[in-house]
Amino acid sequence: MNPVIQLLKHITYGIATLPRIVLGTGRLTDDQMRKTVLSGAVKYPDTVDVDACIGCGVCAMVCPMKCITMKPLEEKVKLRENQYKDKYPEINPAQCIFCFQCHDNCPVYKVHHRSSAIHPRGIRKTGITAEGLFRRMDEKIKKQGGGGGNG
Ligand code: SF4
Ligand code: SF4
Repeated sequence: MNPVIQLLKHITYGIATLPRIVLGTGRLTDDQMRKTVLSGAVKYPDTVDVDACIGCGVCAMVCPMKCITMKPLEEKVKLRENQYKDKYPEINPAQCIFCFQCHDNCPVYKVHHRSSAIHPRGIRKTGITAEGLFRRMDEKIKKQGGGGGNG
């Protein structure tokens, strides 16, 4: 892409996202994560918890700056029957505007209610794994009388 158009695009995204960055409008980043990050306990650039990440690619899709790239895993990880994790995200810090869309929309946080697997200022590793999250979800579905499925 033409660098001038790229720059204009970034400025436009940045302005559109400004209230979210400055005022926290619509931001969901949990308090505990914020405190942990601000305490300096997590060191940049550990921005992705590869073990907890389920490889869905949502963060890359929602990033307004398109600065998240999904990279292939050396070995794919089986999450459940016929479902595998084969990629993980990487943030390009030079383009990040700290809007936290990636964190807030990560299903590990949004669906599983655990610490997000991605955070532009550093993740707080909790020891959870994507396989464990899927196992727990399937057990819950089974208990509720559902089939578990492969979806
Ligand atoms: S905070 Fe996340 S979504 Fe926002 S620009 Fe940075 S990497 Fe992209
Ligand atoms: S960090 Fe979250 S949103 Fe991004 S690929 Fe992993 S699980 Fe999906």
